[in-house]
Amino acid sequence: ATTKEQLSFQAEAKQLLKLMIHSLYSNKEIFLRELISNASDAADKLRFEALTDAALYESDSDLRIRVSYDTNERTISISDNGIGMSRQEVIDHIGTIAKSGTREFFNSLTGDQVKDAHLIGQFGVGFYSVFIIADKVTLITRRAGLTAEHGVRWESSGEGDYTLETVEKSTRGTEIILHLRKEEDEFLNGMRIRNIVRKYSDHITLPIVMKKEEWSQEESKNKILDEDETINQANALWARSKNEITTEQYNEFYKHVAHDFEPPLAYVHARVEGKQDYTQLLYIPARAPFDLFDRERRHGIKLYVQRVFIMDDAEKLLPNYLRFVRGVIDSNNLPLNVSREILQESKDIDSIRAGVVKKILGLIEDLSKHEDDDGKEKYKTFYREFGQVLKEGVGEDFSNRERIAKLLRFVTTSSDSDEPTVSLETYLQRMKEAQEKIYYVTADSLKAAKNSPHLEVFRKKDIEVFLLSDRVDEWLVSNLTEFEGKPLQSVAKGGLDLGNLEDATEKEEREKETNAFQELTEKMKEALSEQVKDVRVTFRLTESPACLVADTYDMGGNLERLLKSAGQ
Ligand code: ADP
Ligand code: MG
Repeated sequence: ATTKEQLSFQAEAKQLLKLMIHSLYSNKEIFLRELISNASDAADKLRFEALTDAALYESDSDLRIRVSYDTNERTISISDNGIGMSRQEVIDHIGTIAKSGTREFFNSLTGDQVKDAHLIGQFGVGFYSVFIIADKVTLITRRAGLTAEHGVRWESSGEGDYTLETVEKSTRGTEIILHLRKEEDEFLNGMRIRNIVRKYSDHITLPIVMKKEEWSQEESKNKILDEDETINQANALWARSKNEITTEQYNEFYKHVAHDFEPPLAYVHARVEGKQDYTQLLYIPARAPFDLFDRERRHGIKLYVQRVFIMDDAEKLLPNYLRFVRGVIDSNNLPLNVSREILQESKDIDSIRAGVVKKILGLIEDLSKHEDDDGKEKYKTFYREFGQVLKEGVGEDFSNRERIAKLLRFVTTSSDSDEPTVSLETYLQRMKEAQEKIYYVTADSLKAAKNSPHLEVFRKKDIEVFLLSDRVDEWLVSNLTEFEGKPLQSVAKGGLDLGNLEDATEKEEREKETNAFQELTEKMKEALSEQVKDVRVTFRLTESPACLVADTYDMGGNLERLLKSAGQ
C-alpha cells in the first residue's frame, strides 16, 4: 500500500503562483503551449539517454504527445511517453523554483500587471501556468528505466501545498490532467484546442495527436471517434525551407527553445554546406535573462545531430560574449554519440562555432545598420540589453576584435543624452584634423566621467572624449589599444601630449612655465613622497587647481579600485 504525503511549495512558488494567475490571465491559452513544450523536452531527453541505453524505450519507441479532453469530467489532459520523472525529480522540478535569481525577480516586480506579465514570462514559469485555468492539477509520471510500481502521483490545487503518492504506472512518461475552473469551459472544445496547438506548437518536432472528431451543427452532438490524427506538422522547423516558415512560427519556436514568453529581437536561419554540413537557427532575445551574469545559467544553444537532440546549452558552440544567443544547431556530420567531453576536443565543433560567431556578428551588424530608421529602436534595445556583454568580446575574440569594436556604442563629451550612441567610426569621422589619438576617460559612473577635471583642456579645445563608465570598460580599453590605426589614449594618464593639437607657441609657453615652477614642484614632490610618484605642472586643467593622474603604464584608477574591491 502507498501512503499519501502532503508537502508544501517553496515560499517563492506560492507567491509566484498567485502572481501568474493574476498577470497572465489575459493570455491563458498558453498553458497548452507550456505543457507541450515540456513534453517535447521530455521526449528529447529520452531520445538522448536511449542512444546509450536502448532498453529505455521499453517496447514503445514511437514518441508522441497526446491531448484529450472530457466534457463530463471537465478535464483536459496532456500525456507524453518521454523521459518521465522519479519521485525526487517531481519534488525538485515541480514543487520548487530552483532557478537562480528568484529573489531578484521578486524585487523587480512592479505591481503593474502588464509589466509584471512580461517579467513573469521571462522568468520561465512554464508548468505553473496550468493554474491559470485549472483549480486542481494531477500529474502522474514514471521515469524511463524504473519499473511500473515506481509511478508517482502529484496533485495540487495551486494554493501552497501538494500531495505526493507512489502509484502503479504501466507506461513510461508523464500525464497531466487539468481540472478546469468553472468559468473555463471554452477550452473543453476540440476545435478550440486544435487551434491553440496549431497556433503555438506547430513547430514541435513530435507528433501531437488527438482523437478524430465528427463535428455536427449542435455542439452537444459532436462525437469523438476512436481514431487518432496528428494535428501539427511534426517536422523540425529548422529543417524546413525559409519561405515555408512564417514569422509567427519562428517566434513560437523561439519561445519554446529559449523558454521565453516574448518574441525575439532578431533571428537568422541558414544551412551551411561543405566540409561541415549543418543548419543553424539562432535568435537574439529582446531582453537579457536574469542570469546573464550568473555562472550557473543553464540555457543556450541546443545541439542536434541529424534531428536527434543531443544536448542543451552546448557551451562549446558559443563564445562567452555571445552567451545571450538562443537557438539550435543541427549537424549532419557529428557522430550521434557525441558527448560534452568529445565536444571539448572536436575540430568540427571549432569550425561550427566560428561559423556561428560569423552569423551572429552579421546579424548584429544588420541591426546596427538600421540605426537611422525603424530599426533604430532595435539596435538601441539590443545594445541596452547586451552591449556590456558584447564588450567582453573585444578581449575574448581576437580574430573578430575590429568587427566587434565597430558595433560598440558610447557616450561622449559631444553626446546630448546619456544613451550610448556614438561608434568609434563616428568618432574618427568627427576628429579634429590634427588629432592623432582617440581620447577617453574612465570613471565609476557617467556622472563622475562627465565631471572629470581631466576633460577641461579637451573642452577648451573642443575635442571629443569617450566617457567610459561600464564595469567592463577598463577591461575593454586594456584590450582595445587602437582602432583603425589610431591609438586609444586615456586623458588621465601620463604627461598629456596633445601632439599636433598644440601649436608652437603653446608648447613654448608650457616649457617656460614648467621651468618657472620647477623649484615648487620639487618641494612638493619631496613633501608628498609617500603618496605620489611625481609632481608636474599641468596644462590639462582650466578650472581645477590640481588632479591625480596615473602613469602611462600604470593601472587606471578605476581598474585599481576594482581589483582592490575584489581583494587583490
Ligand atoms: P522549464 O521548462 O523552463 O524547465 P517548467 O516549469 O516548464 O520550466 O518545467 C519545470 C521542470 O519540470 C522541467 O525542467 C522538467 O524537468 C520537469 N517537467 C515538466 N514537465 C515534464 C514532462 N512532461 N516530463 C518530464 N519532466 C517534466
Ligand atoms: Mg517548460
